[in-house]
Amino acid sequence: MIGSGVVFRTRSWTVLLLGLLTTASPAAFAADCPGHPDALGTSRTLVVDPREHPRIGTMQYRETLPLKDHEVVLTFDDGPLPKYSNQVLQILADECIKATFFEIGEQAKANPEGVRKLIAAGHTVGTHSMTHPLTMNRMPIEKVEAEVNGGIQWTSAAMTDPSKLAPFFRIPGLMRADAVEDYLISRGIQVWSADFPADDWRHVSPDRVYQLAIQRLEAKGKGILLLHDIQARTVAALPKIIRDLKARGYHIVHVVPATADQPATPTTPVEWLLHPPTETTPIARWPQVPNFVFVQTATLPAPGLADLNAETSHQPQLLPRRTMAQADTASTLPAPSRDLFAIPEGSVDVLLSTTLSRRAATRLAMEAEAPRAGKGKAGSIKASKMKAQRTARAAHSASKHAAQVKSATPRPTHLATRVKKRA
Ligand SMILES: [Zn+2]
Repeated sequence: MIGSGVVFRTRSWTVLLLGLLTTASPAAFAADCPGHPDALGTSRTLVVDPREHPRIGTMQYRETLPLKDHEVVLTFDDGPLPKYSNQVLQILADECIKATFFEIGEQAKANPEGVRKLIAAGHTVGTHSMTHPLTMNRMPIEKVEAEVNGGIQWTSAAMTDPSKLAPFFRIPGLMRADAVEDYLISRGIQVWSADFPADDWRHVSPDRVYQLAIQRLEAKGKGILLLHDIQARTVAALPKIIRDLKARGYHIVHVVPATADQPATPTTPVEWLLHPPTETTPIARWPQVPNFVFVQTATLPAPGLADLNAETSHQPQLLPRRTMAQADTASTLPAPSRDLFAIPEGSVDVLLSTTLSRRAATRLAMEAEAPRAGKGKAGSIKASKMKAQRTARAAHSASKHAAQVKSATPRPTHLATRVKKRA
């Protein structure tokens, strides 16, 4: 009894485990590297169409590969050179990493077996000219064509299946020129720059190569790393770089060209920018505000709550809103001229009549008249005082008039009569 029960349970676990294995995502297998349980692995394959994005690599171009944060593409130039290329191949195999190699025609011609090893290991193979000239930017276009064609010819000749050659090209020394790129693009070849190098062609230590690779990757967060599989220092630095990539949570992406059988991985244009504009940094990228000319002032309806994603079930009664045309009216009124507020000489009576009480008006009118009276022109203090009292009465009349402003036919007041006489 007990024995049969154990057998049943064991079978159940076997069925369960098989089910989990068959439904697991491909990414779960990326790090599944036979004999190397701690390998970094290759997390995914990115299929690109060179015609859609012909120039990549932010060292020189606006666009780069549509990588996610913490994704890295490893590239190796200038091989195959058996002494070092074979060691690089072994290091990558131990980590189950797929990379992209840019081969030199002369190297492929001399070491065709090296090209075949790359293909057999599943790496992507592009080209890097015939003789690696560092003068492509100032070459006659005929020489550019000969360099490109020589590299393609000898690298593909080394392959059992020449269709395995990727239409990817890296210009030697990254010495780009419009004419070179135009020629490559006209042939459907993708021009690969990089997002950061590790200076492994310079006379620096392997540790320096490792430091530069990680520092520059960390600064950008993702991207295409440019290395060379013909340098002892690269071979020495590569295991440490890969271990550190794993420790820092980076993932390796394998890039392959689109074919009739394998369409490009769906992407959006903004993914081909290393750092797409975020909500906090869009202003510098906004286009200039156009200078609108309104040919009519038809009012636009105010937006409804439904446009604001409000709960339509709780929609309150909307109050009438100012239309855009009404709002514009305020902003288009002319600024008042300064003399609008200037008090015309001699109109103090009018001013007083509209603002002051009778007693205050009398006092101020006396003060205003006093200098004139003081000049002795047939006037006297008494006459001045009488005139001030008339002004005050006028003020009183005016304030009564203001109270009767609703009357349809305003009567002329004492003040109005007096102002007319003076004019
Ligand atoms: Zn090179």
